[in-house]
Amino acid sequence: MVNTHEIINEEKIHDLLEKGKKASKKEILEIIEKARDCYGLTLEEAAVLLQIEDTQLLEKLFDAARYIKDKIYGNRIVIFAPLYTSNECTNNCLYCGFRSANKELHRRTLSADEVVNEARAIESQGHKRILLVCGEDPKKTHIDHITDSVSAIYENVDIRRINVNAAPMSVEDFKKLKAVGIGTFQIFQETYHRETYKKMHPTGFKSDYDYRLTAIERAFEAGIDDFGIGALLGLYDYKFDVLGTLMHSQYMDDKYSVGPHTISIPRLRPALGSALETVPYPINDEEFKKIIAVYRLTVPYTGIILSTREAPALRDELLNLGVSQISAGSRTNPGGYEEDDREATQFETSDERTLDEMLQVVCEQGHLPSFCTACYRANRTGEAFMELAKDAHIHEFCQPNAILTFKENLVRFASAKTKEKGEKMIEKELQKIEDEKVKAETIKRLERIENGEKDLY
Ligand code: SAM
Ligand code: SF4
Repeated sequence: MVNTHEIINEEKIHDLLEKGKKASKKEILEIIEKARDCYGLTLEEAAVLLQIEDTQLLEKLFDAARYIKDKIYGNRIVIFAPLYTSNECTNNCLYCGFRSANKELHRRTLSADEVVNEARAIESQGHKRILLVCGEDPKKTHIDHITDSVSAIYENVDIRRINVNAAPMSVEDFKKLKAVGIGTFQIFQETYHRETYKKMHPTGFKSDYDYRLTAIERAFEAGIDDFGIGALLGLYDYKFDVLGTLMHSQYMDDKYSVGPHTISIPRLRPALGSALETVPYPINDEEFKKIIAVYRLTVPYTGIILSTREAPALRDELLNLGVSQISAGSRTNPGGYEEDDREATQFETSDERTLDEMLQVVCEQGHLPSFCTACYRANRTGEAFMELAKDAHIHEFCQPNAILTFKENLVRFASAKTKEKGEKMIEKELQKIEDEKVKAETIKRLERIENGEKDLY
């Protein structure tokens, strides 16, 4: 049995943050400089960066984040859409629209056929990656509901990677999840601060902090080595929760030689039926940018996921700063891609732009949208992925794959305006492939896609 205080040591987090306040300007600059080597930072160093308030130092931090993002991920942005299969939930998380005490919510669990219809609606926008999401209700959203949904999508729709964000489960259930071929298993601790966690999760299975914290280890035991973590920003002091997330990450890396594939940065949103009247610890946009930059510098090989919880203008800015994956065209209610029922949503989204519109914005900002799923399908996950990513070799696979998957989107789904912008972007990005053989092969494949072939990687 794992002692969970070994995973998250609250006293140590407080100590590190206190020490972090005492760092001199010179020390801060040295840490930022060291981070540019892309080997990551220690928790002590991350704590120092989290304490930066000075605007000039913040600018240096943001600069380094942009540099590292570019070096490891280039200008690629991976794109996905969430698919909510159920909003039924027996937990009572105070912040969430799905909580059991919200009697106004229109509750619904999709059948496998309905899930397939939603996946088709998502695919018809041009998506290739889905994040499957559901509430926790042992009678409705049990493991069979999740695995049936995943299998039905893979069997019937051209979706190539399904990640799952669901409640913690037993090793046995994780094995079933592994068997249907999920990509990343995502679970947010919400807050690493035990006392706040207790307040926010008064009843239901989710009130067990330790069972949630150890979920990823059970997933590992079941053979799932690709996981995503995060804190719900705004529940408690962000400095504590960011350091908690990094401590969790370091624990996994030390024990299993695999850090998180992704870290998500959900910021608390208003939700219909939420028990919170205000955000307990509001985070302004500058602080939010700092959080992203600190993650980018500390765990450079970990993807950072931004959702439609954020407003359009800010989202555009964050793409430059270290975010490597975004959702687009999202609905947060089950069945939402086919009919919009506001009384069934989990929280309000801020960015209502369609995928097609988002693709234009991403290109205009100089980023290359990617629908690539190749690593997962070529078994480059867990340790194998981390080794490639840490050596920055992942570039060699990602650049041609991003180009090819974007091309497929342009040929099959895009509007004329998106096509025009996208083709220009592809032309530019082709020139970045250094290996002449790889470049020539990519050009050949682009022609084949133009002529109707798909899924070339
Ligand atoms: N029910 C499962 C759970 O709680 O782990 C999985 C799905 S839950 C819908 C996914 C995530 O949504 C939660 O982990 C939480 O971080 C986030 N969330 C809930 N309410 C939110 C809100 N009001 N604003 C932003 N994110 C929220
Ligand atoms: Fe249920 Fe998850 Fe919402 Fe909590 S966050 S109420 S567990 S859906």
